[in-house]
Amino acid sequence: MFVTFNGKKFPVAEGRTVLEAARDNGLFIPSLCYHPKTGPAGKCRACVVEIEGMRGLQTSCTIPAKDGMAVTTNSPKVLAAQRLVVDLMLSSGQHDCLSCEQNGSCELQNAAYFLGIERPSFRVDSEPDFDESSEFIYRDHEKCIQCGRCVAGCNNTVVNEVLDFGWRGHNTKVICDDDLPMGTSSCVQCGECVQLCPTGSIIDKRSRGQARSWEVEKVETVCPYCGVGCRIALHVDRKTNRIVRATGVEDAPTNQGMLCVKGRFAFDFVASTERLTTPLIRENGNFREASWEEAYSLISSKLGEIKTKHGADSIGGFCSAKCTNEENYLFQKFMRAVIGTNNVDHCARL
Ligand code: SF4
Ligand code: SF4
Ligand code: SF4
Repeated sequence: MFVTFNGKKFPVAEGRTVLEAARDNGLFIPSLCYHPKTGPAGKCRACVVEIEGMRGLQTSCTIPAKDGMAVTTNSPKVLAAQRLVVDLMLSSGQHDCLSCEQNGSCELQNAAYFLGIERPSFRVDSEPDFDESSEFIYRDHEKCIQCGRCVAGCNNTVVNEVLDFGWRGHNTKVICDDDLPMGTSSCVQCGECVQLCPTGSIIDKRSRGQARSWEVEKVETVCPYCGVGCRIALHVDRKTNRIVRATGVEDAPTNQGMLCVKGRFAFDFVASTERLTTPLIRENGNFREASWEEAYSLISSKLGEIKTKHGADSIGGFCSAKCTNEENYLFQKFMRAVIGTNNVDHCARL
């Protein structure tokens, strides 16, 4: 089917909303509460457009695209409405982009830029309101635009049911449980809310001040922690070659952007100075450095001795989900074919 945007016909797949149809064709309509995973919310009103035959402005995220539909996304009326919505969001918080971690990848900032908003038109006084109690997540309520993506993600996507909107009117804010600090709430620190937040309101605490979004290269890989095989993007600072944050890959069939606390936040081991770089042999209760040849030779002679004395089934081997499938295959082959036992296991076997 075809939909006309701003006088030009575009092909549109069945089942798409007007917003999705526009995006599929490379047209930008500001939108802040919609995320492909949490779906249309019709909440922020930044995506309003004119649709021929429909009265008033319509939220493009909630209207299904239909064959022959004529949509206007760039009329003065549409742009004025979008501008007012985004302006009010900027006005009702503390949006100090210069120091904000989200600077450069913020959807609110992008919308303001697209609409030509240089500074907020209104002044709403507010006090700083942040929550540093969580080990891995930093929250700045003054940068929250109440889009609800984090609430939808926490309740419907990862089903941890921690976040909700609390209080009323101007005091409305996203709360954890009964308005507990995040660090003492039932939050399991999966970071789905961090991934879904369009602004700098919920962010990875330990990546703060590490690198700007344009200074990092995203390297996609598979999480090393367990056998699920979640796909992650490591954000590597080009200046230092260090990982500054990790995000889930949204279109990965295994995890659809979701990660657990380990996959999302526990990558500091990669650059740890305590990592072993050479084999260590224990002698008289102390470790000494050894060559790989010496270590292999010791392992081989010790295993041989045990096998001769007590039989192959007196030996067992544990491998790790941090190894590749191929390494795990080789390890079980070694235990079965070389040692001669089926006593082999793996930490990711449930
Ligand atoms: S959340 Fe976005 S608009 Fe607000 S300060 Fe951060 S970068 Fe700027
Ligand atoms: S980190 Fe996970 S559990 Fe905690 S509030 Fe965010 S989405 Fe919910
Ligand atoms: S914290 Fe972020 S995702 Fe949640 S409602 Fe506020 S702006 Fe939206």
